[in-house]
Amino acid sequence: MAVVALVGRPNVGKSALFNRLVGRRLSIVDDVPGTTRDRLYGRVEWRGRDFILIDTGGLDLSYSAQGSLAPGSSTYMEAIHNQVQEAVAQADLLILVVDASEGVTAADEAVAEMLRRSGKPIVVAANKADSLRLRQDVVDFYRLGLGEPLPISALHGSGTGDLLDEVVRHLPAAEEPQKTPEQDASLRIAIVGRPNVGKSSLLNALLGEERVIVSEVPGTTRNAIDTQLEYANRRITLIDTAGIRRRGRIVPGVEQYSVLRAMQAIERCDVALLVLDASQPVASQDTHIAGYVLDAGKSIVLVANKWDLVSSAAAQQEWLAEVRDAFKFASYAPVACVSAKTGYGLDGMMEHVFTVASARQKRISDAELSQMVRQALLRVNPPSKGGQRLRIFSFRQVGVAPPRFLALVNEPKLAHFSFTRYLENQVRALYPFPGTPLQIEYARKQDSNRR
Ligand code: GDP
Repeated sequence: MAVVALVGRPNVGKSALFNRLVGRRLSIVDDVPGTTRDRLYGRVEWRGRDFILIDTGGLDLSYSAQGSLAPGSSTYMEAIHNQVQEAVAQADLLILVVDASEGVTAADEAVAEMLRRSGKPIVVAANKADSLRLRQDVVDFYRLGLGEPLPISALHGSGTGDLLDEVVRHLPAAEEPQKTPEQDASLRIAIVGRPNVGKSSLLNALLGEERVIVSEVPGTTRNAIDTQLEYANRRITLIDTAGIRRRGRIVPGVEQYSVLRAMQAIERCDVALLVLDASQPVASQDTHIAGYVLDAGKSIVLVANKWDLVSSAAAQQEWLAEVRDAFKFASYAPVACVSAKTGYGLDGMMEHVFTVASARQKRISDAELSQMVRQALLRVNPPSKGGQRLRIFSFRQVGVAPPRFLALVNEPKLAHFSFTRYLENQVRALYPFPGTPLQIEYARKQDSNRR
């Protein structure tokens, strides 16, 4: 999956633009509230293309000290320089964000110079172009020598469609379509989690236990190596085992980019094992990664590793309660308590994986769903606005992996978030879909006005 990075000097509105571009999509797929804020990576879908967007503004820790650094000082320039270098190394395309209300600055010129030398495609977004005059003035940014500056307002959302058109136009050609799990008959598993939770220990424990490694095969992304094995007579592909094994230096900027690698692995998996360290409190990075998994429409099993270190029953209960609370948005995700060190719980974990994988493929019949919707609408009044009430003419499952449902309605705009959540709960009452996010979409029934 292509990677696009937002770069530019501080305060031009990179994070606002990130939220605007990622948030747009999140609202469409009805994503998880509470996990989307303060993320640095997100998925964007535009005209049938998907890409990963990075907000480099938050990546470099030295950046956060910049409040105290004078613009133009050598430390200030150095911080920007490091950030841009990392972004250039990781991204297939860069969006240079500049501030239309301030015009071209020396820092903009320095960043532009680095980007020109990168040889990668670049799109210039002139943000804060909130007025007609500012929109006209953006021509000034032609001076950066990176082509036509596009006037946008991250705050109001204007111009972002044109920006996305331009980004998609310059993205490298899409990778070969992945074989679907049905085609290659193996279950694709990604092991993800923050550093030191025990991912590579878990990988080794899994491989050590079965000793039936089929082969190591190159993954489709750069430097990725997958491992194929058999577990309980099922063919499994562990995604990007090279990335799991690689014990990097835990340097802030560098470590952050391992999230990018995890996201690429998540894109290619069916089920993600999100490894947590049960000897520690849940961290926000844990829930962020879960958010990426569900955004990507993948299934999840929460793995409470280092269970050997949680000695008392009371401590175990307390930790599990904490997990339930932190992962409320994924209350359907099973939790497997394991120890990569002793091998405890690995079979149980894999049973969860198989259960969750089959839930991805589950179909509910039209008849069951129609009956469910009829009853659901008797219990709860559908939302209304301006005297118009939501009517649901049909509700069907239109896809699997992840399960997708389509409601034909009189007016899709009437279907708000909490109603969708209610419908989702009703669907899960028919079948719980363990570990698996559901997608519920609305479309206008064409002839609904004539009824
Ligand atoms: P990664 O960064 O997520 O791949 O984490 P590692 O697999 O390198 O593990 C980090 C540390 O935790 C190492 O010192 C491991 O020995 C230790 N560790 C991993 N799993 C367990 C476990 O189940 N129990 C205990 N006690 N230690 C573990």
